[in-house]
Amino acid sequence: MDYVTMQNKKIPIVADVDVFVAGGGCAGVGAGIAAARIGAKVLVAERMFYLGGMMTGGLMSKIAIGEVNHGLGEELIKRLDVYQHSNWLASRSEVPIDPEVTKFMLDKMVIEEAGAEVLFGTTITDVISDGRSIRTVVIDSVNGLEAVRAKYFIDCTGDGQLGFKAGASYVVGNDQGYSSSPTLMFRIANVDIEKLISEMDARPELRESVKNTYTNHKISPKQNRENIAHDKYAHFADFVPYIQQKAKENPGMFTQWELDMMLQRGLIFMNQPQGTHVLVNSTRIPYFKGNDNKELTSAYISGRKQVEATFRFMKAFVPGFEKSFIMDTGSLLGIRESRRITGDYIFTDKDVVSYQKFDDAVVSNQGGIEIHATDGHETDIQELKKNDHYNVPYRSIIAKDFDNLYMAGRCFSANHPALSAARNISYCMALGQAAGTAGSQLVKAGKQNVRDIDIKELQQKLVSII
Ligand SMILES: Cc1cc2nc3c(=O)[nH]c(=O)nc-3n(C[C@H](O)[C@H](O)[C@H](O)COP(=O)(O)OP(=O)(O)OC[C@H]3O[C@@H](n4cnc5c(N)ncnc54)[C@H](O)[C@@H]3O)c2cc1C
Repeated sequence: MDYVTMQNKKIPIVADVDVFVAGGGCAGVGAGIAAARIGAKVLVAERMFYLGGMMTGGLMSKIAIGEVNHGLGEELIKRLDVYQHSNWLASRSEVPIDPEVTKFMLDKMVIEEAGAEVLFGTTITDVISDGRSIRTVVIDSVNGLEAVRAKYFIDCTGDGQLGFKAGASYVVGNDQGYSSSPTLMFRIANVDIEKLISEMDARPELRESVKNTYTNHKISPKQNRENIAHDKYAHFADFVPYIQQKAKENPGMFTQWELDMMLQRGLIFMNQPQGTHVLVNSTRIPYFKGNDNKELTSAYISGRKQVEATFRFMKAFVPGFEKSFIMDTGSLLGIRESRRITGDYIFTDKDVVSYQKFDDAVVSNQGGIEIHATDGHETDIQELKKNDHYNVPYRSIIAKDFDNLYMAGRCFSANHPALSAARNISYCMALGQAAGTAGSQLVKAGKQNVRDIDIKELQQKLVSII
């Protein structure tokens, strides 16, 4: 057996692969499937014990998918529809999914069918490079420290963990260093949604909203009923005046902190494929950076406190929730943004709003800017035209400081507002698909540098997502 030596420790090299994928979330799944399908030997290392990252463990179980994206996100939704005897794909551009069904569907697609090797409970802890080339990653698991050699590395950790440990340049947050504020998602079960809709229809105070939102999220109770009946996305928000009214009528029921927190964005919840529970996207952690363990710990604690108070309000005052209970909270905090690894090109908000097209396009997207304010209160939303899109260039998924490092998903090279647009699930999967396909193509061509890619050949392989 070969070994690497690090800080006087002899670490066994347990695998030698073509493409190493760090993180098995949305982008990691895309990268793993794409690289393995075209013949590369692939290893995906994931610190949790399931695939899907934010869309499964983070409970962000609603895939945003534009008309231009016919990649692995679409394929996943079709597979879920076949399994569930449903037609959720028709709900595009927003498709609710069942996170538990998705976990085992991803095991099937990535491991059984594409043939990528996946190691769960495995954290990337260090990186050994030789100049501009990464040679080996060190992983930690129940086995202890082990090392993996690879030709190409794809950072799909969301937090840019592989790039960071390799010493790649990166950026965090906006001009003040703060990221879009995160959300701890949770699900509430045993909800009588029909009762809720009837009461919302009859009582105008339940329909009042004050917060900025998307045009297609302003849905009447009747339309929500129609949507639920036809496997379509239903959205309920924001109840802010109702929260204020009930708090006034019930002094002492909520602390000032709880009330302030509930009024940050009000109540936002949505339907899920199984009709008796809802997914709540209401909590927010203000002044968050995303690269500090103490900060992360207190964010989870605050997130759970917010969940408890929000649920207490809903059970007490929102019709249809009388017999409900908290089904679960995300095992991963809903981090919208943390480290972004700097690439050969930094994708910008100007590219987003001008529907920029690039010669080295690898992915197209239609998501508009959606910044969740640092203080947790407002959401800056800039909707785009439905009939146009922007491209993301190959240069923004290759790390500028290395010759064999890609980054896909929310740690790709973008500025703060551009990332807020280009981070939906299907798009992160598509970025992974692009990086995995590129890495595999380079290995086959015997090339050792991401910049030696035959871009036309790559683009032919990526027609479903460009
Ligand atoms: C609150 C919230 C609401 C959102 N709403 C929507 C929406 O409605 N629709 C939509 O499409 N998108 C939505 N998004 C965006 C979307 O969910 C994320 O941007 C996307 O999932 C990011 O994918 P990713 O692969 O980059 O990261 P992730 O899905 O987070 O995957 C990263 C993976 O890497 C693993 N990992 C991290 N570090 C290590 C390490 N050192 N070693 C091994 N593994 C590691 C993690 O465990 C995880 O599995 C939302 C996001 C949030 C947070």
